[in-house]
Amino acid sequence: MKYIIANWKMSIDDAKIDKFLNTLKTQVSSKNVVCGVATPFVYINKVLPTLSQYHWLVGAQNVSFAESGAYTGEISAKMLREQGVNFCIVGHSERRVMFGETDEIVNTKIQRLLEQNLTPLLCIGETLEQHEQNKTNLVLKKQLQSDLADIKYVDKLIIAYEPVWAIGTGKSASTKDIQQNILFIKQTLGKMYGDKSQDITVLYGGSVNPKNAQSIFLLNCVDGALVGGASLDCQKFLDIVHSMQ
Ligand code: PEP
Repeated sequence: MKYIIANWKMSIDDAKIDKFLNTLKTQVSSKNVVCGVATPFVYINKVLPTLSQYHWLVGAQNVSFAESGAYTGEISAKMLREQGVNFCIVGHSERRVMFGETDEIVNTKIQRLLEQNLTPLLCIGETLEQHEQNKTNLVLKKQLQSDLADIKYVDKLIIAYEPVWAIGTGKSASTKDIQQNILFIKQTLGKMYGDKSQDITVLYGGSVNPKNAQSIFLLNCVDGALVGGASLDCQKFLDIVHSMQ
């Protein structure tokens, strides 16, 4: 199955969500693609009725590494499950860079999500410097091994290959790089999990838009996309979804 997931980040508000949902209601959604939206926590209950009516997944953008207790401001995996969330982004480069999330924290968050039967959407990717120094494979392998250390049940896992330099820059990675790096990720997962790795979905993320989506989706190894900026406008997002067929 192919997935196209929106990451609204902190770039959305009530009015923009109303517009998004109203546009969605006028469109026929695609049967061959699973769509989802990772929304800020406070809008989970606002988007859930409409998104689930269209069989779209509802996601969060963050989760606590702790199960429960005195963690002011945190949201646990159990709370997400109770609100009807299906998946949660972990390891996004914005959280790694701006909020100091280490691979160890990312690993703990993945465990918390799996305990609640929620799908972790793990983002990995190299910085521009690492890309220019040809260290991409090393970085991807290290992130996969550390972020997934002791994670046994992987059938629910979604990975997004997101080169940090392609996120929000309008400069997507080349199809050659996307193919090479996603194949490397799949190969590495194969070594870690054997045949079970075939259940893991690997998306591409980084400045996907309605113009470049089709050429990216033509790559057999790409199981879909994680879309930031272009997902705020429902019509643009649906154009990306439709270029998957
Ligand atoms: C993202 O933040 O996950 C992302 C892919 O953003 P954008 O599409 O804006 O590059």
